[in-house]
Amino acid sequence: MLALGIDVGGTNIRFGVFDGHQLIHTSRLEANLSQACRDVSADSAAFAVVHILSSEIVKIIEKHPTIQAVGIGFPGFIHPDSKNIIQSPNLPGLSYFDLRGELSTVLNLPVTIENDANAAAYGEYCLADKPEGGLIYLGLGTGVGGGLVVGGKLYTGQHGFAMEAGHIIIEPNGRQCGCGNKGCMEQYASASGVAMSYFNATQQRLSAHQIAELADSGDKAAIEAYLLAANALAQALASIAKVLDIKNVVIGGGMTAAWPLMQQAFKTRLDADLIPALRDGIQVKISTAEDTAGMLGAAMLARKHSTL
Ligand SMILES: [Zn+2]
Repeated sequence: MLALGIDVGGTNIRFGVFDGHQLIHTSRLEANLSQACRDVSADSAAFAVVHILSSEIVKIIEKHPTIQAVGIGFPGFIHPDSKNIIQSPNLPGLSYFDLRGELSTVLNLPVTIENDANAAAYGEYCLADKPEGGLIYLGLGTGVGGGLVVGGKLYTGQHGFAMEAGHIIIEPNGRQCGCGNKGCMEQYASASGVAMSYFNATQQRLSAHQIAELADSGDKAAIEAYLLAANALAQALASIAKVLDIKNVVIGGGMTAAWPLMQQAFKTRLDADLIPALRDGIQVKISTAEDTAGMLGAAMLARKHSTL
């Protein structure tokens, strides 16, 4: 059976039709959902998001009429039981909205919704041939998301907040985070964290990508910004590994393009922070799925749930 996996971002939405793990069709829709949800009533925001998604899904189903399930990786907290969106920090107005139910009614198909990093974690778990011990996923993008598969299942926690790894505090009284705390890992290890580190050192506002290019050409502040990111990530992962003791770790997201700048410092800090006996027990891999793990995971979760 074919399944459609959707990765919803703030400015674009990616759609992938999967036959097994095989991606047979992909498309991208430029749609600024953040804009569509800003300064409008909650009802208007919900209507806009349903309309944008369902219009594109209907077009894809016309081309692939054997699609039997739709999965969505969504940037927000999803209630583990009701599957309502609890909150989406970048898409205000959608709190407590049943996007899954609305789309399922409009499309007359089973629809599954999951947090985007959780969907990517499940996608990586499928790509790794479902390792028995499970898998930890950390996604380095504008923020840092995480996901955990254990016992063959995505573990999202009792309230939908499991593996909010980006908000592990690694620097007491450090940088202010959007979550209300200070010193969260994503304030250092995400693309915006790297940009902040560089700005603090140079007063120049550049993107993480531009800073990576400067680091490659020997710019000290740029190199330092990536070393700080590597250290923050390793500190958080060491804490996660000490709690979970799961061997397979996959790091994905756009920031991994600059992994050579982080790799050595990351390994040194991870080894230093881990319990010595656990050092050889954690295998960290960089995702090779490029940006398809989220779509794949959403599609696989949709298939799994529709055949229960
Ligand atoms: Zn935080």
